Amino acid sequence: MWSTMLKPTIGLEIHAELLTQSKVFCTCPASFGGSENSRCCPVCSGLPGTLPVLNQKAVEFIIRAGMATECDISLFTKWDRKNYFYPDLPKAYQISQMPRPVCLNGKVRLKSGKVIRINRIHLEEDAGKLTHEGGATLADYNRCGIPLIELVTEPDFASAEEVTEFVAEIRARYMYCGISDGKMEQGSLRVDVNISLADEHADTLGTRSEIKNLNSLRSIARAIEYETHRQGEILGKGGKVTQETLRFSDGTGETSSLRSKEDAHDYRYFPDPDIPPVLITEEEIAVIRGTMPEMPSSRYDRYVNKCGIPHKDAENIVADKHLSDFFDEAATLLDEPRKIANYLLSELLYRINLGEGTTDNLPFTPADFVRVIELVEGGKVSRSHLKDILREMLATGSKPDSICEQNNYLIKEDLSLVSDTIDKILAENVAAVAQLKNGEQKVFGFLMGKANSLLKGAATPKIIKETLEKKLK
Ligand SMILES: [Zn+2]
Repeated sequence: MWSTMLKPTIGLEIHAELLTQSKVFCTCPASFGGSENSRCCPVCSGLPGTLPVLNQKAVEFIIRAGMATECDISLFTKWDRKNYFYPDLPKAYQISQMPRPVCLNGKVRLKSGKVIRINRIHLEEDAGKLTHEGGATLADYNRCGIPLIELVTEPDFASAEEVTEFVAEIRARYMYCGISDGKMEQGSLRVDVNISLADEHADTLGTRSEIKNLNSLRSIARAIEYETHRQGEILGKGGKVTQETLRFSDGTGETSSLRSKEDAHDYRYFPDPDIPPVLITEEEIAVIRGTMPEMPSSRYDRYVNKCGIPHKDAENIVADKHLSDFFDEAATLLDEPRKIANYLLSELLYRINLGEGTTDNLPFTPADFVRVIELVEGGKVSRSHLKDILREMLATGSKPDSICEQNNYLIKEDLSLVSDTIDKILAENVAAVAQLKNGEQKVFGFLMGKANSLLKGAATPKIIKETLEKKLK
């Protein structure tokens, strides 16, 4: 009996709004939110007779995206009109790029070593936003003309896990190079998933469906699982999958048909006569390359392999560029990367997650943070005060030394008090001292515990231990 396995093949389109100040072809602000249609002008609302002017910053930002994903940067790039009629697009065409996009042939390596090929990244303008209310449709054109980059992969993914790892990596890289806020929940980064199923030995791919506008990693994974199952059922019964565009509902966990899937030729692309092509020089590319930060995957490798930080911790630091920059600076001041990572994740990030601050706006420096570690590790301050110190630093930005002084956190090394107290303990515990001299080592811990509790805050455990040992000789 032959059994055949159906294998999914998945490709992605990732759309990201760029963090430019103004829109891509006019000077309207490109910020998020605000009251409806308050940030539009004749250009971005598509009035006749207006002329678009290209925002150079958007070109620089897409070049950064290309460099972050090892793409070739085109020295000649041009603009095309993608024609479709829909109320979210007042011009009835979108300015986009068809044959000559800014970025081509990139790649990203997954942690497994598998390479995902990137076909292209092109620049286009975003469309408006429609809201359906009580039988009417309302159009908000604030989003119209916000620069959008679309990254298109080859169909190289075989599972939801590979897809979500890739999307998280692209999101992080865009955030690292300062071109996207990565806010999937606000739709500034959204993903279309193309998926088809075919026999694992087949030479051709199956008919694909496209799931539009997924805006969380969880939705992406759920949509892929659902769609793999749905297509598998159809093919398993000898049926045929229809080529169509789907939407995914987070509520039901199911996909449903939006429209039959269009092909590129349906859009009747043609060159936009209003915007001249852009010539990019090698010198411009070199200047931009010089300002690119180290990418998260490379930092991750460095943290794990050079600093000896556990995988999960390295992942957590790299997930936030501000945290990662903070860590790197702290590590230049104190050559104890594992200790810093530990304090950063289990103490500082813990407080931040409680809402006591944000990583992008810390009111103290990495040097202040390193000072806290030195105070605690050096026995100058009890570990039990650590959370109070960090809480106050987050709230006021005060220096750790002055916080400790003002609150009496510093352990005073009162040696005569230590000596007197230990003498008293030994006098009161003659039997225990005799046991210890008979070789019962665990009694030392008992005496140490008594001394620690009586001398709390008066001396470090190190001093107490040394004094006790000396007196027992
Ligand atoms: Zn405008």
